[in-house]
Amino acid sequence: MSGMEERILRCAAEQVPQGAQNDGKGICRDGTLPSATSPQGERILRCAAEQVPQGARNDGKAPCYPLLGLSRHRMEVDGEGVTTLVAGAGCPLCCAYCINKKVLRQAPTWVTAEELLEKTRIDDLYFRATGGGLCFGGGESLLHLDFYEAFRPLCPDWRFTAETCLNLPPRDLIRAAAVFDAFIIDVKSLDPAVYRRYTGREQGPLWENLRYLAEHFDPVRLHLRVPLIPGYNDEADQAKTEAALRELGFTQIERFPYVVREE
Ligand code: SF4
Repeated sequence: MSGMEERILRCAAEQVPQGAQNDGKGICRDGTLPSATSPQGERILRCAAEQVPQGARNDGKAPCYPLLGLSRHRMEVDGEGVTTLVAGAGCPLCCAYCINKKVLRQAPTWVTAEELLEKTRIDDLYFRATGGGLCFGGGESLLHLDFYEAFRPLCPDWRFTAETCLNLPPRDLIRAAAVFDAFIIDVKSLDPAVYRRYTGREQGPLWENLRYLAEHFDPVRLHLRVPLIPGYNDEADQAKTEAALRELGFTQIERFPYVVREE
């Protein structure tokens, strides 16, 4: 295992937030690491190699968004009203059955707030007439907070929805809560072992972030997704995760089976 591989695996094991600098001098504590050739180690290293840096900008002058694609005229799947799905690059997790792996590997087009507005404003009337707007997905949408803070004032009447795994620093979630109207949360599993095995990462601040949203957000604006993941959890785990979420105060919880597709 090279020094670089060891550092990536150690950081993944210790849940260093994406974008955090590691000076290689001891930020990461010693611990048991997955081997670089184990399925979990390979997955983490591959994801790290494909990772789009958090906060990357095209020219250093304005926050930009790593756009992978747009899907217009969506109804009932991404929240209220007519919605355009905006897919962005980058994700801190390495889910074994990620259906977006191919998309996340593509080089994104970096767009400024004005450029994204130009690409999406064609549906302005639909958005305002139906209470719809933009749903940011990908990838982990909440990696691009500088961009949203620049973009939101340009279209204050549109509904902003974020698809997120909530595995991000709590201070970032507080920023996101000031920008977004609703969240679609891909919970995976609240069992730490299942979560680690399936995503390649620790749960980290997931619980703290769930509590924050439960306490500060109207539950009708929070949609939580709890999958049945073949080979990783079972219906009992799904039920346990749902029960824990209800105990926190969430009401819109969707249980569903993952359909595993071959790459
Ligand atoms: S959180 Fe979503 S985009 Fe990220 S690795 Fe998992 S399935 Fe893929």
